[in-house]
Amino acid sequence: MAEVRLEGITKSFGGKTAVDDLNLTIEDQEFLTLVGPSGCGKSTTLRMICGLERATEGNIFFDGKPVSWLPANKRDVSMVFQSYALYPHKTVRQNIGFALKMMRVPKATIAEQVLQAARTLDIEDLLDRKPRELSGGQRQRVALGRAIVRDAGAYLLDEPLSNLDAQLRVLMRAEIKRLHVDVARTFIYVTHDQVEAMTMSDRIAVMRDGVIQQCATPEEIYERPANRFVASFMGSPPMNFVTGELADVNGVRTFRSSALTQQVHPDVETTDPAVVLGIRPEDITLSTTPVDGHQLGKVFVSEPLGPDVLVTVRIEGELIKARVPTPFRLGHDSTVYVGLNPNRLHLFTASDGTALH
Ligand code: ATP
Repeated sequence: MAEVRLEGITKSFGGKTAVDDLNLTIEDQEFLTLVGPSGCGKSTTLRMICGLERATEGNIFFDGKPVSWLPANKRDVSMVFQSYALYPHKTVRQNIGFALKMMRVPKATIAEQVLQAARTLDIEDLLDRKPRELSGGQRQRVALGRAIVRDAGAYLLDEPLSNLDAQLRVLMRAEIKRLHVDVARTFIYVTHDQVEAMTMSDRIAVMRDGVIQQCATPEEIYERPANRFVASFMGSPPMNFVTGELADVNGVRTFRSSALTQQVHPDVETTDPAVVLGIRPEDITLSTTPVDGHQLGKVFVSEPLGPDVLVTVRIEGELIKARVPTPFRLGHDSTVYVGLNPNRLHLFTASDGTALH
């Protein structure tokens, strides 16, 4: 059982605030991912949970008990680092069993637990090898083995896949997700990769400049981003943004810019008419013939993605990306009519990017 609660956590290095008044509860057995751009404070947050870093302010609780003053080895957590940190001269078996040996666990128990961890990760046949005799993916599995051999309440993973090539990352992503199910423990995962966050997590906390922007399920984050930063960070290719204003045109709530005129939901309220309209590429349709409500544009470039084609369309001065099904046969500079799905529009204030729901 390990519910991890962060209450008013702030961390400053010198005069610089790396994590700013963070409040977050990670449920027992949840897979929570901290995601955000480089330097936003994700690793620092994880290191404070682990006990490798001490918070400047605030408290951390495991299952309601304060742990802020406990050293790392007295907390019920186990951490996997980006660098793997394997001992080069030890075998896989010794690497995985090392923490247990330090804890003076009896030899027979260590052997049994190492074997069990190796079985979970499907690396039984590698136990007598040294790290240099392993591939990147195998080393990553050994690093995971070192963490899971200890029965901790929470496993903390700091960018564990960032040293792997793209193909292996996709494979290991699924394996870590499956591992979470198998070991049934709390997982707190740090990454700057929004795809990892989306595919693996029960909940995602999106961070920027030491502050959580939104913490919600992947679906919620994708469908109802709290602000423009979250909307732009999550999703690939990213959401399109067009700056304009809200106006009532013939009694109809309308978004207007030099490129787009688009009816929006009548309930959208704002004191400042300056807004930004957001629309994801997959929520745009393109047609070769005029359609009521569609905007006239010209194909700027098209990029085949396999099942879909990413088409960039120029409308007045704006470049808008649409993701449409293959085949898309229009050439450069062809006329095209662009339709935005009215149920999939996002509006943000132009001032600070807060979502207008
Ligand atoms: P990355 O994805 O690049 O690892 P991150 O989101 O994990 O980034 P942190 O490593 O938590 O970010 O760093 C947050 C901020 O705190 C950064 O500005 C970083 O330079 C600063 N920082 C982190 N550790 C220290 C330290 N030991 N001393 C001084 N500044 C630090």
